[in-house]
Amino acid sequence: MKKHLLFLGAPGAGKGTQAELLSVKNSYLHLSTGELLRKEIEMKTKLGIQVKDILNRGELVSDEIVLEIVRKNLVQDNKGWILDGYPRNLSQANSLNEVLTEINQPLEVVFYLDIPEEVLIKRLLLRGRKDDNEETIRTRLNIYKKTTEPLIEYFKDLSLLEYIDADRDLKTISSDIKQKMA
Ligand code: ADP
Repeated sequence: MKKHLLFLGAPGAGKGTQAELLSVKNSYLHLSTGELLRKEIEMKTKLGIQVKDILNRGELVSDEIVLEIVRKNLVQDNKGWILDGYPRNLSQANSLNEVLTEINQPLEVVFYLDIPEEVLIKRLLLRGRKDDNEETIRTRLNIYKKTTEPLIEYFKDLSLLEYIDADRDLKTISSDIKQKMA
């Protein structure tokens, strides 16, 4: 069973939901950079104050900041991990590769959650998180297309990519994922 996993996909594709389900089931660490950043904001830490406006605008936090978060959390002793929302660009993918080489825990599979754009927008508007208004959604989708989507090819070339049709009900998707991580 694979234990070093990554979820890739647009905002609203369901990465967080699937990653959470899978991590609870297997006692893996669920490492969501978005979730961790939101926690910092909530706790009004120095970092949280620094990134608050960036998240509310739907823009990306600096590579240095997210790398620090990932590094800090990944070195913890754990049975396995699921990365969700990281990497989001090529530079982050290269940094991740360096960290994983250092800690000798190579990535085993990347689940790419694919979903039509109009479904995404509907889902995000329904979710209603603070950064889920129409303008911010547009920003996030544009950034996703420009900087994150190229990672699909990147991981495909490394033979790590597993395609998941994410426009199905939650249970069907999770059993598909389960099958593909065996
Ligand atoms: P979603 O994928 O639905 O946009 P996330 O919780 O993954 O939600 O991310 C929320 C926000 O956190 C992003 O819009 C961005 O501002 C910030 N963020 C999360 N992960 C990263 C990352 N790897 N690099 C830069 N910023 C990030």
